[in-house]
Amino acid sequence: MAEPTVFERIVAREIPADILYEDDRIIAITDIAPKAPVHLLVVPKTAEYGNVAALAGGDPQLLADIVKVAQDLATERTGGDYRLIFNTGEGAGQTVFHVHAHVLGTGLQEGSLGSEL
Ligand code: AMP
Repeated sequence: MAEPTVFERIVAREIPADILYEDDRIIAITDIAPKAPVHLLVVPKTAEYGNVAALAGGDPQLLADIVKVAQDLATERTGGDYRLIFNTGEGAGQTVFHVHAHVLGTGLQEGSLGSEL
């Protein structure tokens, strides 16, 4: 058996988190190391999908539900303008291989989207 991911451990209440939303398939938490004034993570409870492409292929409804939760939280917390990021692969900064959406909002600069060219 693979080690449980940090998000599975949060779902199981083995480690604490600031839980913003939860239903039977999804949990949303505050990122522990925020990169913007609002930085949330929307995460499927299943660890079956390592990245967004796998999730889109395996359970597109769950991906759509994650986007809806992201939208609803952003409407509450950022006025509805936000950046939705799924890092995919180590080279793109992914560190937890249990798919999750980053919701970033407020104070974003358009020029901060990628690396310095
Ligand atoms: P990524 O680098 O795209 O895989 O994103 C993983 C994110 O999970 C990072 O932004 C981390 O700050 C965040 N993270 C890691 N551990 C925790 C935790 N215990 N509670 C909340 N966020 C976490």
